[in-house]
Order: sequence, then structure tokens, then C-alpha cells
Amino acid sequence: MRNQSILKKLLALAVCMAVLLAGPVPYGVAALADSDYSDELADLNSQYDELKKKQDAVQQQINQASNDKAAALAKKRNLNNQISLTQQQISVLEEKIAVLEENIAEKEEEIAELEEKIAQSYNQYKQRLAALYRAGNPTALGVVLGAANFSDFLMQSEMLKRMADHDQTLLDGLAANKEELEEKRAELNSEKEEQDASKAEVESLKNQLNNQLSKTNTQIHNITALEAELQADKAAFQAKMAAIQAEIDDIYSQIQSSGDYVGGQLAWPVPGFRTITSEFGWRFGGSDYHTGFDISGSGVNGKSIVAANSGTVVYVKYGTSGYGRYLIVDHGGGYTTLYAHCSEIMVEVGEYVSRGQAIAKVGSTGWSTGPHLHFEVRVNGVAKNPRSYYSV
Ligand SMILES: [Zn+2]
Repeated sequence: MRNQSILKKLLALAVCMAVLLAGPVPYGVAALADSDYSDELADLNSQYDELKKKQDAVQQQINQASNDKAAALAKKRNLNNQISLTQQQISVLEEKIAVLEENIAEKEEEIAELEEKIAQSYNQYKQRLAALYRAGNPTALGVVLGAANFSDFLMQSEMLKRMADHDQTLLDGLAANKEELEEKRAELNSEKEEQDASKAEVESLKNQLNNQLSKTNTQIHNITALEAELQADKAAFQAKMAAIQAEIDDIYSQIQSSGDYVGGQLAWPVPGFRTITSEFGWRFGGSDYHTGFDISGSGVNGKSIVAANSGTVVYVKYGTSGYGRYLIVDHGGGYTTLYAHCSEIMVEVGEYVSRGQAIAKVGSTGWSTGPHLHFEVRVNGVAKNPRSYYSV
């Protein structure tokens, strides 16, 4: 909607220009500089100003997002390192647990074997004890009947007793072995429990780290999406700004310079102040093309701005945005100079000014961060580096 109204205004302006150019118009520009023309520029300047502010805000957001992303990426690297170390700890613990489990299994096998031996020995022992008992009992005929004679019997019963003693020793030894093995198994089991606990602890740490990593990844993902969005916004703003700048340039180019160039060396526009605080050309990392240079210095506010050369004031604007209060002087032959952000303008459209004449006062009106003069030299509407006209 807004663009359409701009288009309509531009069309109206073009028609107006065509009418003006058709006839002999010595002060065509002065005629243009009233209502239509200044409304148009005011509208465009305020739009441009608004976009510039938005673009700066977007750039700040982009910088912030970039910082946030760098921090998140550093955090992610850190988390990945921690997770890798934790995983290594888990692997070591798992190996330890596996070795312990193997040991425990071995011990259990040994214990089972011993238990079997004990059971067998105990059976033999019982049988022999029973035989011995029977041998010692007059009614028990086991040994007696089995013996060929008395001495054989004695021999056999003595042998049985010795065998029983042997079994007893064997059994005692086996029991001691078994006890030892069980102690060892208990030790291994308690060690394994400790390792299991450590492993559980490290695994819970690893889970926490993985959760953090997942959150960090989401954060990085979101920042990346935001960055893309901001870059798109930035591109859109830049396109709009470029379009508005082009429109301003278009209007600028329609300022008709009259007569031949007055010639001579340009006078410095702010006598006594020669500090250039912002040069002509690309600035802000290539986002803004500075169409002039800025002159400033301590105490510059309210100081006189003088005409850089003789000529006719062709444009005066009391704006509140963009260039604020500014004026354009035509020096003939397509040469114009522009003086912006003035606190006061002392001349009117159509007025002839001579080189070095005070025409305005330094201020900070419009889009300005402090008192300074934004000074432009244009030839046929094309901005030139003002430095080329001075030996500074
Ligand atoms: Zn400037």
C-alpha cells in the first residue's frame, strides 16, 4: 500500500518534471522544492531512517546470535570431550567387571568341584567308619566274616582305622579349601558390587552429559534458524534501503544545475574544524555507503557552516529524520554541495550565496549521533569523495 502511494507520488513528480522541463524554467528546481518535492523526500527519508534503525537492530541481533552460537558450540565441544572421557571410564569399569565376573565364575566352579569331592570323601568316610564300627563290635561280623583269620582281621581293622584317619585329614583339608574359596568369592563379589556402583554412577553422569548435549544441540539448531531468519531480514532491509536510496538519488539527479561551473578551489565548509570523523564510501562492514564525509570536533555545535563555493540554494529541508535539516547549493555545470544535520539554516531556496558565506549552523538533527556536518559533493547527482576537492 505504502509503496503504491510512493509510486503514485513519483509518477506525479515525473509528470511535474516533464511539465517543468517542457518550458523555459530558469529556477525549475526552486519551483520543485516546494510541497510535492519536499513531501516526497520527507516520506522517503523517514522510511529510510526507520529501515536503517531496524537494520542496525537486526545486525545487533545477528552479532548476539553469532556470539551465542559460538558459546553453544564451545559448550558442545566441551560436552563431547566429557562424554568421551566418561565413556572411556565406563569401558575400563566394564573390563574390570568382566574380569571380576570371570574370576567369580572360576571360584564358583572350584567351589562346586570341592563340594563334590567333599561329598564323595564324606561318603567313603561314612562307609569306612561304619565298617570300622562294625569291626569293633563283636556282633558286627562285617570285617570278621571278610577276614580269613584273626591276624587278617586285625590287619584289616587297623587298615580301616588308618583309612578313616586319612579320610578325616582329607576332609578337613577340603573343608579348609572350601572356606578359603568362599572367602575369596565373597571378596570378589563385594569388589564387583563396588565396580557396579561406580559404573552406575559414571553412567548416570554420562546420561546427564548426553541430556546437556541434546539441549545444546537444540540451542545451536535454534540459533542457526534465528541466524538464517535474521540474515533474511537483513537482506530484506538492505534491499528496501537500497531502493529508497535509489529513489532519493533519482530525485537528487533531477535537481537541474544551471549555468557553467563556477570553478575554483572549494572552501572548507566548517572553518576551524578539520577533523573528519567518518570517511566517504562503504562503512559498517559494507552495509552502508556513506555518500559524503562527516566533519566534527569539540565545540563544533552551533558553529558556522559556509558555502563551499558560490552558487544558488536549490533545496532546503527542515526534516526530523534522515539528514534532518539540510540544504543543497548548485554551483553550475552539474556541481552541487549538500550540508546536513544543521541546527539552523540561514538561507532560502533561490538565494544566491558566495563562496565562504555562512549559510547554516552545525547541529545534530535527523539521524545523527552527535553534532557534526555531513557534507556531500555531487556531480550530476553522483556522490564524489569530498577529499578529492581539498588537500587534507
Ligand atoms: Zn555523514
